[in-house]
Amino acid sequence: MQLYYADEALSKWNEIDELFEEEKQQKKESIEVILYKIGTIEPYHRDFAMKKLDEAHEHVKSNWQLEKEQRIKPSLWWKEVAQAQAQNPTANTDANTPKLSNLSADGKAWFIHPVAMIDYFPKSEILFQKGDKHEIIREINIRLAGFGGNVPTDEFTERTEKMIKQFQRDYMQVEETGVVDIKIIQAIDRFQDEYSIDSFFTQAQCQCSTFKNLTEPTCNGFGLNKTNNGKTGANYAYGIEYPGLHRTLFWVLRSIMFYIDSDERYQHLTVEIVSSGYRCWADNIYNNRKSTNHMGKALDIHVIKKEKAKSEHSRDERINCCDLVRDILTEKTNAEYRWFHSNGIALENSYTRYHPTRGRDNQSIASVWAHYDVRVFESKFLENQFFVKTAKDINGKYLQELVKNLGS
Ligand SMILES: [Zn+2]
Ligand SMILES: [Zn+2]
Repeated sequence: MQLYYADEALSKWNEIDELFEEEKQQKKESIEVILYKIGTIEPYHRDFAMKKLDEAHEHVKSNWQLEKEQRIKPSLWWKEVAQAQAQNPTANTDANTPKLSNLSADGKAWFIHPVAMIDYFPKSEILFQKGDKHEIIREINIRLAGFGGNVPTDEFTERTEKMIKQFQRDYMQVEETGVVDIKIIQAIDRFQDEYSIDSFFTQAQCQCSTFKNLTEPTCNGFGLNKTNNGKTGANYAYGIEYPGLHRTLFWVLRSIMFYIDSDERYQHLTVEIVSSGYRCWADNIYNNRKSTNHMGKALDIHVIKKEKAKSEHSRDERINCCDLVRDILTEKTNAEYRWFHSNGIALENSYTRYHPTRGRDNQSIASVWAHYDVRVFESKFLENQFFVKTAKDINGKYLQELVKNLGS
């Protein structure tokens, strides 16, 4: 106790200032160890913990200076400080507002316990659940669209819940909870890194500028914002050149890649190329084509057997590979053939697959490629914000970056 007796110069008390610095370093080390043990190795979490520690430290230090000035200087005994703590027994549990009263009776300046730091991590904390509404939920609805199918709404719907469960079951292989916590956020970022769509995005840009003898003005990959190309009539009614490719298409592509990887029925396959992505009006005119699905809302992908070159496949083999992808899309993404539903992923038939009620439709045949689109999304999910011109914009910021700002 003598150490803490306040002499006139406060000399002994000032020694505690140095202890604070030393203590902070020790706390940092303990926190590093704990973070490692609980498997939290992301730099963001570490930085967050250290930032919180620094904040708490600064807070305690400034309180401490005040205490020194206002209370200790008039020759207060440590015992009295400890008594103040005893009168307020809940003070120790509140790690957010460390106070001098957190000092223990033995005079050691324990201002924050490393284990309490873990509370700062929303490790098992629910970030979003059914009924919530947030821009980050919209991102999740886009990024996990390939797990059950979804539209880019900012609402956490029944569908979002199912999607999260499917993602937990199939990708994360953890217990299904249907709510979003930090583990889901981290897993979606991992899913993004694991299945790169960069080269596919490049292939998906409009190719019209490479066509020879084209009299129409060509685009830079994503049309010229033309509407109906100045024409009227049923064939042109939907002919809007959207300002890019719909983000959902590429996140669905990621899930196709994931299911090919993880399901033994599909493991012999590989996505070779995106053969058609964006096709503007100039492209249509050049090819004497009227379909407008590919003005930002559709992808045609080629899927082949891993073990051999495309040229070594028979036509039937290639159709079969694409039919398997259509299976992935119907089973895993709840995609439907043709365009009689709404707000889901739509597929074109192949020669071998018929629409269950309408039979084969010669108007919409995708044979050696698999066509899927977002054409039946209602208009609010086809707003310009969802159509982008770079792979970077398909991805958007990492969710771990986005959730950093939650609650601040
Ligand atoms: Zn073009
Ligand atoms: Zn197509």
